Amino acid sequence: MLRPKVVVGCKIHEDAVKILDEVADVQLILSASKEEIIAEIRDAEAILEIYYLSIETTELLDNTPKLRVLATLGVGYDHIDVEACTRRGVYVVHTPDVLSAAVAELTIGLILCLSRGILTADRYVRTEWCTPHAKDFPYGVDLEGKNLGIIGLGRIGYAVAKRASTFDMKINYYDIVRNMKAESELGVKFVDLETLLREADFVSIHVPLTPETRKMIGERELKQMKRGAFLVNIARGDIIDEAALCRALEERWIAGAGLDVFSEEPLPESPLKKMENVVLTPHIGSATIETLRRVALTNAVDIVRVLKGEEPINLVPEQRGKTFKRKG
Ligand code: NAP
Repeated sequence: MLRPKVVVGCKIHEDAVKILDEVADVQLILSASKEEIIAEIRDAEAILEIYYLSIETTELLDNTPKLRVLATLGVGYDHIDVEACTRRGVYVVHTPDVLSAAVAELTIGLILCLSRGILTADRYVRTEWCTPHAKDFPYGVDLEGKNLGIIGLGRIGYAVAKRASTFDMKINYYDIVRNMKAESELGVKFVDLETLLREADFVSIHVPLTPETRKMIGERELKQMKRGAFLVNIARGDIIDEAALCRALEERWIAGAGLDVFSEEPLPESPLKKMENVVLTPHIGSATIETLRRVALTNAVDIVRVLKGEEPINLVPEQRGKTFKRKG
């Protein structure tokens, strides 16, 4: 019997490949021209990750008549046109929960780098410390007793709050909906965005990128923050107006920033690269061995379910409750 074809658009954990191999012919595309990609996806019934294939959802759908499921290795799916997939009866699945701890750990890492100048301290030891005229290394700031403002108290925001509360930080959060469970479990306080920005010593962003959150942090919001406050963004680059952030950092409206995500990735020439008060990481929020294995397995299990005619487990919210039957 002819086996379905699954196209995988980036390197994934071998355990996930094994699961897919049991029911399908798996084709890995790592670097290919647009024409080669289109030729390769034409017969695909499932595609795992289009992010690295540089192809828009509509063009992808136009060239994949057999496609039943599009899976993404992560929780954010702003690179996929879910409405277009729904119209075509293609499931979109992602990997919520399994990566929250890893992303929260990196968030805390960025906060600690900023509060204690860890990267600058490392450079100081390698260069200046043992020289005759070394300046004293500047003091950091405590996290204990400081105010952390979490924008978006969803799965990752909650995981950050849980970890920050063990540092005895005071935590405010802003979200569309109030999270009473988190308030009683962690003692976090719901506030409006302006109050969050005005009170925070650290602001950490964990909302998805949507039309409402695009550039939600711009000049006005950055000016509402304290001059000694730090901003961390591990969600999506376009949630911040990056040009306004550069001005804020250069002109010291805020003390510094920790950024894992950028408007354009990989980050091209940018003033951010020259700033001492900025810590930059290359979109590695979920990039740990264990988490990336779990993420790939979560996608693989859902793809196999769809290929067997079952409903996937991790549908994106817009498709929850929908069932797409295969025609013919
Ligand atoms: P989540 O559970 O959906 O949490 C997002 C929270 O933000 C939800 O509580 C959501 O409320 C809220 N929200 C949505 N729109 C909002 C708005 N306009 N104003 C205020 N709050 C709003 O998602 P998650 O699993 O925590 O992931 C969050 C984001 O992290 C992802 O979308 C992704 O972009 C990013 N991420 C980055 C990395 C990385 O490697 N750097 C890795 C994983 C995830 P509702 O639930 O009511 O919509």
